Amino acid sequence: MASACSIRVRGVVQGVGFRPFVYRLARANTLGGWVLNDEEGVEIYLEGPERAVQSFVEDLRTQPPPAASIAEMEVRAATPIGIHEFTIRQSQRRKGPTVRVSPDLPVCRECLEELFDPSNRRYEYPYINCTNCGPRYTVLRVLPYDRPNTTMKDWPLDEYCRAEYVNPANRRFHAQPVACPACGPNYYLHADHGVSNQGEGSIRRAVALLNQGKILAVKGLGGYHLACDAWNSVAVTALRQRKYRKEKPFALMTRDLEVARRVIALSQEAEVLLTSNARPIVLAPARAKIAGVAPESDELGVMLPYTPLHHLLFAAGAPQVLVMTSANRSSEPIAYEDEDAFSRLRGIADAFLVGQRPIARRVDDSVVRAGVWGPVVLRRARGYAPGAVATLPTRRPILALGADLKNTVTLVVNGQALVSQHIGDLDHYSCFRAFEETVRDLVSIYEVDWDELLVVHDCHPQYASTVYASEMKVAQRLAIQHHRAHVASVLAEQGAWDQQVVGVSFDGTGYGDDGSIWGGEIFVGSMKRGFERAVHLRPAWLPGGDAAAQHPVQAAAGFLAQIGDLPELRAAPFHFPERYRSALAIVGKGIRSFSTTSVGRLFDTAAALLGFTREITFEGQAAMWLEHLARGVQEAEPYPFPCTGKELDFVPLLRALIEDRLRGRPISQIARAVQSGFAQGLADVVTAVCRTQGLNTVILSGGVFQNELLLEDLKTMLANAPITVWTNHAVPANDGGLSLGQAALATFAQSRSQSNTMIG
Ligand code: ZN
Ligand code: FE
Repeated sequence: MASACSIRVRGVVQGVGFRPFVYRLARANTLGGWVLNDEEGVEIYLEGPERAVQSFVEDLRTQPPPAASIAEMEVRAATPIGIHEFTIRQSQRRKGPTVRVSPDLPVCRECLEELFDPSNRRYEYPYINCTNCGPRYTVLRVLPYDRPNTTMKDWPLDEYCRAEYVNPANRRFHAQPVACPACGPNYYLHADHGVSNQGEGSIRRAVALLNQGKILAVKGLGGYHLACDAWNSVAVTALRQRKYRKEKPFALMTRDLEVARRVIALSQEAEVLLTSNARPIVLAPARAKIAGVAPESDELGVMLPYTPLHHLLFAAGAPQVLVMTSANRSSEPIAYEDEDAFSRLRGIADAFLVGQRPIARRVDDSVVRAGVWGPVVLRRARGYAPGAVATLPTRRPILALGADLKNTVTLVVNGQALVSQHIGDLDHYSCFRAFEETVRDLVSIYEVDWDELLVVHDCHPQYASTVYASEMKVAQRLAIQHHRAHVASVLAEQGAWDQQVVGVSFDGTGYGDDGSIWGGEIFVGSMKRGFERAVHLRPAWLPGGDAAAQHPVQAAAGFLAQIGDLPELRAAPFHFPERYRSALAIVGKGIRSFSTTSVGRLFDTAAALLGFTREITFEGQAAMWLEHLARGVQEAEPYPFPCTGKELDFVPLLRALIEDRLRGRPISQIARAVQSGFAQGLADVVTAVCRTQGLNTVILSGGVFQNELLLEDLKTMLANAPITVWTNHAVPANDGGLSLGQAALATFAQSRSQSNTMIG
């Protein structure tokens, strides 16, 4: 019996070989009908024998194309109209798009085989790709995802590519960035004031330079990398000096998984992340000691090759382990436009390996870790962005601007929370420009009306993102408190809107309800009802405000001022520099000192007392140093970190630390006791709050929870408690996840105030 149906598919279904897949599946089942892309995703109409229609639907549901991700599939019965052929129809365009843009994909196995097959037309062609692989977000200019809307529009297809592009049975059917050496872009090597090699010759020359210890700028998917031989310490040192990057770890790219396994200790979970379609940088315990790559850390960040060019470089004999770091000077955003790269990287790179295909937008590499509570994202960018991370219960378009550090923005379209790639720290002018570009870019891709936008921002009046929000011409603005947004980011990932929780929000800095600097907050509440501050760190002083984040001894002065009869910290074994004394004086006079509950600064204080008395050169450095030190020791009796009333009291912990230090206890043992003290204090307080409130779900968020040892200890300590712990997985626990939390809380702040109005 003939039957018919329409199928609406939503999710990542464009630019991932969905239509040809549907076409082949329909043909295999001898069904008539059509398939097309539109703003909502893919629409399918089918007609034929009832059993064939059913088996088609079943197959599509259970075995979609590898790069697709179906969020929703809606099947509606229809009346057969007598179509026997199956066709692919033109893309339709009616209204604002809600289809999801696919993140960029690594080169697939079939394309790799062709890349190294001398008889193939695309032999050694660095821009080989197909519907299962290749660039997406980084070549897309506007939706829908069709070739004229990508950065490939200037390369008309030749006959060979066109034949594949229009053949529904081909792997390259409607593969928008498809190209071959005859019709597509290529790579060239730019050195010594001119182009010296093109095509395959450029790769050989690049490899020769890498082997000579030179630093190479290499154009990738979302920007330029600076590459050099990781085992060549002279090259690594030169890179650090030229990039003004003293100590922050460099990412590595290894030839393949086998080499990666020699460089880092890979758990099964870490290996899954490393080889996943996102191809992120995976942080894992170092196996190899590579000088200068990640000083004072026991982890290394490794990624696998993900573009055809990377594979070509290794196949041509590039060093098996390359430093592959974002091409920029210290905290600038990654360079992605050729002219900009030439001017900004002159003096850093010895040569440039430049691809002709333009990059539509900058997207850094992502950084992840296989954590004790599951995968953790530390920087969310290439391979993940701009994927939806949550579905919020709202139809209203919302734009959440995040915080000024580790900024990301979130756009909510039809309830889909689309989180941008990592942007950076907005106090750098060039990062702020990148922030503005990203906001405009996201809003324009999804054709959201500015007039309809609800804009959400942090409460900090001096944040650049707050000032930006205040100057926007939009329907409505809403400020969301920083630490509540951290807690909300976890609940948004979980879609838990009613769940009553104990929400722990520990970080370095955030604007509190009372205008002081918060960062050690424990809330009770839910998304629907809001969050009440239940416990917080005992307040300390922060001399010089947020500037103290640069100098652990300066932060220490504000915390230690609370402790009577201190020893002379400028003497042995502490050796605090002069800066400490002037900071103490400021606190004593009560000038330029701000009240704070920052756990991040408390970690800095502990690190300073253990010997980290210099200026930090990247955010979180002192805490990482302390964690690294503590990892040298299996376990230690935790220092006391009690909760009295509503305050977690750090004084007993610091006192014990100082006494042990004066007694000459080894610093790694002290560091271990500090780490377990933090964990035990927190475990005790959340257990107590859960008990008194009758709750059993604890949220951990905020940058402090990037400290994996703290999470490990907490997991052990809470193992027998009747408590479920939720942490961030899709977005970072640091401020990179804040925009998601802001957007989610805004959804409920809206409904709360609406219902208030109704009651009133
Ligand atoms: Zn492919
Ligand atoms: Fe924060």
